[in-house]
Formats: sequence, C-alpha cells, structure tokens
Amino acid sequence: MNFKRIKILDTTLRDGEQAPGFAMSVQDKIKMAKILTALGVDCIEVGFPASSPDDFTAAREISASAETQIRVIARCQEEDIHKAGKALTNAQNHRIVNFIGISDLHLHQRLYLSKDQVIRKAVDSIHQALTYTPFVDFALEDASRADPSFLVEFLTAILEAGAQHISVCDTVGHMIPMETKHLFSLLLQRFPETTFSAHFHNDLGFALANSLVALEEGAKIVECTLLGIGERAGNTSLEQLAMVLHKKKSLGFQTNIQTTQLALACDTLCELVDYQIPVNKPIVGGNMFLACSGIHQDGLIKNRANYEYIHAEDIGKVVNPIVLSKHSGKAGVQYVLKSLGLPHACADIQTAMTFLEQQKGLVDAQLFKKKMCALNGKLQIINA
Ligand SMILES: [Zn+2]
Repeated sequence: MNFKRIKILDTTLRDGEQAPGFAMSVQDKIKMAKILTALGVDCIEVGFPASSPDDFTAAREISASAETQIRVIARCQEEDIHKAGKALTNAQNHRIVNFIGISDLHLHQRLYLSKDQVIRKAVDSIHQALTYTPFVDFALEDASRADPSFLVEFLTAILEAGAQHISVCDTVGHMIPMETKHLFSLLLQRFPETTFSAHFHNDLGFALANSLVALEEGAKIVECTLLGIGERAGNTSLEQLAMVLHKKKSLGFQTNIQTTQLALACDTLCELVDYQIPVNKPIVGGNMFLACSGIHQDGLIKNRANYEYIHAEDIGKVVNPIVLSKHSGKAGVQYVLKSLGLPHACADIQTAMTFLEQQKGLVDAQLFKKKMCALNGKLQIINA
C-alpha cells in the first residue's frame, strides 16, 4: 500500500499555551520544544513574538537551536511581522504565518475593514514577511464562517502574493464533518496545487473527526496540540490523531510521530502546566490500560486483544492492566496473587473474593497481599 505522508504541525506552545491555565515560561517552552522534536512533529509553532517579551524570547531561543522546523505567527501588521522576523534571526528552518479574520462577522464587527481593504492588508503583510523568510504561510481566521466566494477571492490574492501553506481555521469550532467535507472539497477543487493545513477547534467535539475529513479531502497538514489544549474546548489532540493514523492503516496516511513518545510528551506537559489528565481521556488517560471488572480481566488474561485496542507500550508506557476492586472476578484475583508471588497463599479463593466485595474503590496490590497472607495464617511469606 502506498502511504501518503501527512505533516503534523504542533501548536501546543502557541494556541495551546494561550488558553486559560496552560501558560508556560520560556524555559518550559524550550523543554517542550525538545520533547516535541523527539516526538517527531514536522513543525513547531512556538508563539506569537509580538504578543509579549516572553513569547519573543521563547521563539528566538527555540528557533536558534531547533532541529525541527519552527513557525511563528503575526497579525497583518508591520510591527508584528518585524518582531516575528527578528525572533527568527538565528533560526535555520523557519516560517512566518500571518493571520487575519476573513468572515463577514470579523470584517464588520471586529476589524472594521472592507473586503478590498482586508485583501490589501493581507497581500502587503505577505510581501513584508517575505523580506524576513522565504517561507510565509497564511492562516485564514474564521475561514469556516467566511462567505465561500470571498474565501476564493481572498485565497487567489494571497497565493499570488506568495503565501505558501494555507491554514484553514475553524476558529470557533462550529464545524461538523459533513460541512468540513464540503469546505475542503471546494478549496481543493479550486486550488488543487495548494498545501492546505487543517486547524480545528473542539467546541462541538468534532476537531479530530473534522481533521480526518480534511485529510481525506486533500489537506496535507494538520495542526494539533498535545492533550488537545487550546482556546475553550481546545484543538485537535495530537495523541489522538497520531494513534488513529497509526492504527487505521487502511486510511493510507503516514506521519513521522513516534507513538512510543506520546506518554512522555503528555506527562511532561502536565507537569509543566500543573494539569491532571482526566482518567477517561482517550489514549493517555489513567484508565486506558486498566481493567477491574471480572469479565474484562478474564478476557485480558486469555488474550489482551479481547479488551485492548491500543496497548500501553504503543504509547511508551508499562502498565499492569489487572487492578483489584469489588468488581474483580476469580481469574483476575488468581492472576494478581500469582504476580504477587502468592500462587497458593489463598487456598480458598472465596476468601479473597469476599474481602474484595467489602472494599470501596481500587484495592492496592501490596495491601491485598498482606491481607491475604494474614487471612491464611501465612505471614511468614511477607517476611521471606
Ligand atoms: Zn486556533
């Protein structure tokens, strides 16, 4: 099968970091940039240099030593582009992405620009950015709510001005997959040679699904964040998209993401921003690789595939999947006793089951070991 190589642009340090509760220091960003490089992302969007001195410093420091491509963002304003360019002075492999809102709503209620004015502003900003780097991208803010005919007119002008990768942004996360299919099919039919980058927010919970549809329609880049952090409900989650493309070979897409680095990348981010991953979060949640109900434990012991689609080692984790609780069955309890070195400690398995039935929540394995030894008069095993 011929796989189509698609690129992952990570914006954890820009779109992710600007959401409430996820602020990072310059040092945090430098650390995360190294982790993202090891993870295999194709481009790291490191920040918005004009937005704060810290963003400027982080962009300058990271881009000077990065082993992967770096991108910084700028509004279509002279000073923003100047700062973006200056932040990349020592960078090897870099891009600037200019952005502006193009929906009627943004034009009339926020930017107070006519359609002609916004086109002129975008074109001028591309010409200016090209004096700092040969690689200038353009992000179409609120593209998913723009008038389609204006979208085409705007794109024609900015492509002619030299814009390269075009980020199609669902800024408020309102798209559903059927609408995404329609939008990307329109864009790809009209601009078949253009590299489109899918940028979705998750307000309706469809960021991942929309990203997959965009890829199917011909987008070549997906913009993601680790754990899906980002404005409001966040962005397309990198770990989810990476695992979907890794597991669903039939889709025919390939990335450079080293999935065995995903747990480390997400854990490091959590540590830096002091965030706890919900236990039921896809791919990296604490419950992903645990089973405590009798039927699932029995099935897992017989063959992991019975109740596991993704294995802990796929994302670089080591987990003992069988945990004890009042839901545990005999097979699970025997398995745990054996793994604790007590295959015969509990001659009467019913004793163990009765003990577990009285417990609330998960039961620590070492506590269980002590209890079982005590119940069976075999405390000497603990001391052995
Ligand atoms: Zn965004």
